[in-house]
Amino acid sequence: MTEKMLKFIKIDQQTPKKREVDKRIDDFNEIYNEFISNKAKEQSSRCSQCGVPFCQIHCPLHNNIPDWLKLAAEGRLKEASELAHSTNNMPEVCGRICPQDRLCEGNCVIEQSGHGTVTIGSVEKYITDTAWQKGWIKPIKLTQELEQSVGIIGAGPAGLACAEELRKFGYKVTIYDRYDRSGGLLIYGIPNFKLEKHVVERRTNLLKKSGIKFKQNIEIGKDLSLRELKGKHDALLIATGVYKAREINLPGNNLKNIFPAMEFLTASNRKGLGDKVKNFDNGILNAENKDVVVIGGGDTAMDCVRTAVRQNARSVKCLYRRDRENMPGSAREVHNAEEEGVKFIWLSNPKKFIGLEKISAVLVEKMQLSETDSSGRKKSLPIPNSDYEIKSDIAIKALGFEPENLPKLFNDSNLTISNWGTIKINLKSMETNISGVFAAGDIVRGASLVVWAIRDGRDAAKSIQKYLENKKVIAA
Ligand SMILES: Cc1cc2nc3c(=O)[nH]c(=O)nc-3n(C[C@H](O)[C@H](O)[C@H](O)COP(=O)(O)OP(=O)(O)OC[C@H]3O[C@@H](n4cnc5c(N)ncnc54)[C@H](O)[C@@H]3O)c2cc1C
Ligand code: SF4
Repeated sequence: MTEKMLKFIKIDQQTPKKREVDKRIDDFNEIYNEFISNKAKEQSSRCSQCGVPFCQIHCPLHNNIPDWLKLAAEGRLKEASELAHSTNNMPEVCGRICPQDRLCEGNCVIEQSGHGTVTIGSVEKYITDTAWQKGWIKPIKLTQELEQSVGIIGAGPAGLACAEELRKFGYKVTIYDRYDRSGGLLIYGIPNFKLEKHVVERRTNLLKKSGIKFKQNIEIGKDLSLRELKGKHDALLIATGVYKAREINLPGNNLKNIFPAMEFLTASNRKGLGDKVKNFDNGILNAENKDVVVIGGGDTAMDCVRTAVRQNARSVKCLYRRDRENMPGSAREVHNAEEEGVKFIWLSNPKKFIGLEKISAVLVEKMQLSETDSSGRKKSLPIPNSDYEIKSDIAIKALGFEPENLPKLFNDSNLTISNWGTIKINLKSMETNISGVFAAGDIVRGASLVVWAIRDGRDAAKSIQKYLENKKVIAA
């Protein structure tokens, strides 16, 4: 912005015209808030308060949905918010990004009877956003802090939920994370248009005010060993998520401008947060005016295509080797992407990346589906001589994630992992094979959902509390 423009804005801020604009914005916000409030009331009062709350059963946190819908319908939002918080550490996050069509809303009795679900997620978001606006959400105030301390590795939703619950019990809690910001995939994975970053930062700031310590830029295994960390605390939680991108090793894989999904999404999220991102600023990771091809059919692929659209890509295509019906991603997300202009190329498999130094096209073969096999799935088989090229300036590989090799990363071969590389735990106590070390979230389940990570974090906190109580008794 030029100096002249800045001067103009400074002057304009003092003029009646500016006040007029402000007033119009205020008026708009008032009308908008009233509209949202009416909508939430209207939706809440549609709940039939049926005897068997299938929505609640199918919510991983077993949120008391019918009761907070009733409270919201009666305008008792403070009580609704308190009830929502009694089972969920981040209701406003879940309200925004849970795949409700597969969880609560998909099991709403009204939906089942063909009359359209109560929009549970939107009401949950509305209740909690209102609670934040009104200042009803307060940091934890302890009457007495306990002596014992817990170290948590990973500031994603599993680590954050566990930390909050442990703090409520009164423990000292420190969260270690290798990133510069806390939130895990809520910050650097999930795009801003699905989950605004200030919503996540608001939560982590609340935890800081509650006395939870955050140590950013510390990688366990590199800056501190697991053993060293264990020496600092009475118990540990590993909540490190899964970050190893699944690969497709095609000819031409080493051409420039072929990226793993997380590199593309992290750059975009960092830009949204105001960071300098060299490879975005110099245009390499920016999809503007480019033909983009995304490979994969899951929710991460949907986030990539929709991010590319928002960066003003010339064209965005999504390649998936099965058809629409057999796609793992949410149907709602596919619909959204299509509405935004993304072209889905079903039954197509990439065979080769073509180009000289940089990618210029993807060679694709057409596929067909076999009969259903014993696993209940149809195999995707190539159609001979069906190859064709799709123009591409950027290719993004979004084929899912696997756990990193944690025993190696932590330099601790004692830690037991499953055949899939996830951490093995006692399913009841969530304790790993190392006494006093617990694990939760994606690193136990494999790539999953935020709501499950929160559930795991809460369950782990209960188990850690039991463990610490026992430890205190034995030491006494
Ligand atoms: C692109 C994308 C979009 C998604 N969209 C949705 C969605 O819309 N809805 C939904 O419900 N779920 C979504 N998910 C899944 C969801 O984000 C995850 O299931 C959830 O974040 C898992 O939580 P977590 O706490 O287990 O791990 P994470 O959120 O991955 O957090 C792990 C944290 O551990 C830290 N860490 C890792 N290793 C170390 C180490 N050695 N030392 C220190 N710190 C370490 C990481 O820096 C990170 O901050 C999406 C995932 C991706 C990738
Ligand atoms: S947490 Fe998710 S599944 Fe549970 S009620 Fe909220 S939106 Fe539905």
